Amino acid sequence: MTAPVPTISSKSELPDRSGHFGPFGGRYVPETLMNCLLELEAAYEEAKADASFTRELRRLLRDYAGRPTGLYHAANLSAKLGGAKIYLKREDLLHTGAHKINNALGQALLARRLGKRRIIAETGAGQHGVATATVCARFGLECVIYMGEVDMERQALNVFRMRLCGAEVRPVTTGQRTLKDAVNEAMRDWVASSSTTHYILGSALGAHPFPMMVRDFHKVIGEETRAQILEKEGRLPTEMVACVGGGSNAIGFFHDFLEESEVRLVGVEAGGRCIEEGQHAARFAGGRLGVLQGCKTYLLQNADGQINPTHSVSAGLDYAAIGPEHAYYHDQGRIEYAYASDAEVMTAFEELSRTEGILPALESTHAIAYALKRAPQLASSDLLCLNLSGRGDKDVNEVARIMEAAKEARGASA
Ligand SMILES: *Cc1c(COP(=O)(O)O)cnc(C)c1O
Repeated sequence: MTAPVPTISSKSELPDRSGHFGPFGGRYVPETLMNCLLELEAAYEEAKADASFTRELRRLLRDYAGRPTGLYHAANLSAKLGGAKIYLKREDLLHTGAHKINNALGQALLARRLGKRRIIAETGAGQHGVATATVCARFGLECVIYMGEVDMERQALNVFRMRLCGAEVRPVTTGQRTLKDAVNEAMRDWVASSSTTHYILGSALGAHPFPMMVRDFHKVIGEETRAQILEKEGRLPTEMVACVGGGSNAIGFFHDFLEESEVRLVGVEAGGRCIEEGQHAARFAGGRLGVLQGCKTYLLQNADGQINPTHSVSAGLDYAAIGPEHAYYHDQGRIEYAYASDAEVMTAFEELSRTEGILPALESTHAIAYALKRAPQLASSDLLCLNLSGRGDKDVNEVARIMEAAKEARGASA
């Protein structure tokens, strides 16, 4: 295929100038960060309009990250399930193993433009930390990654990868010791260091301009998908599905299709063990409007407004808030949301590995789990496109541990 030219400018009018998507989003930060966010927004607007910035980003995405990624017809899986023809958008094939490098490259270029030589970031699954440490090595930037202690344990390999790239990984020991707490620590650092430091936020979350900027850096996923499906099938997909943590891979995949009303868009959240307080991360299944870490959105919180603990088999979806643009399109009815349980995800992980020889990241496997149920309900003329946001290499130890525990449980009950 001829690679489509990734565009950074957005064709949607949202967010508005104050960073709102309808009632969601905004800029709920300490006064000390306000200047920094305004400076970032101005630099981003300027960069977007600068052809040399776009050219350099496009070149890096192609030669360093590996774009365009393929759109793969999963013929075995489609035949086995019966029903829709399934396509996988192969973000798992990108350098560092997930979509996150798209955003990390864009923001590193922006940091250089701002003259900021120190980078901080937060990470849950470790994928964003790895992508950030990687681009910092590439651009010679100092790099500090905040990561919850629990996540460091679950994703030990990624911690090692970050350190190999020269990053300092700082364990976060507060709260639940996962992603939310890592974001708090990163924001605390930024308040004190913003004159020399850029914060590479890892999802379509946080204060304006982050949700907009992160989305724009990932829009290339959907733009390529459009060109590829038109080339292969001569028409748009019937339905597109992506997993939703903060929401960056999903909004990047969907954005170019928001105005195509005949294309159904479905985001899949982490259903965890069950939909009860503290057992999942399905914000639309149990969340309410609130403010967390810079933006107004749907949050998992208790009756007093305290943030609930969350659980998911995948560290990358284990977060109490969803990106504000998703909150908006949820309420508009444009994007639909479902969730997949940990157990369904384990089944789907094995299914894709066996039928296609592709080990998906546990995050991405939420979209696969949805497709296992959905594809048989569709006709053979329907096209079901899934965003395979990352590869599962980082998860094989965790998967082995869970399978072993399940086997023991079966043995004990036999
Ligand atoms: C981080 C991550 C996610 C979740 O983040 P989003 O911002 O919702 O995309 C999903 N898939 C993979 C592979 C990830 O690494």
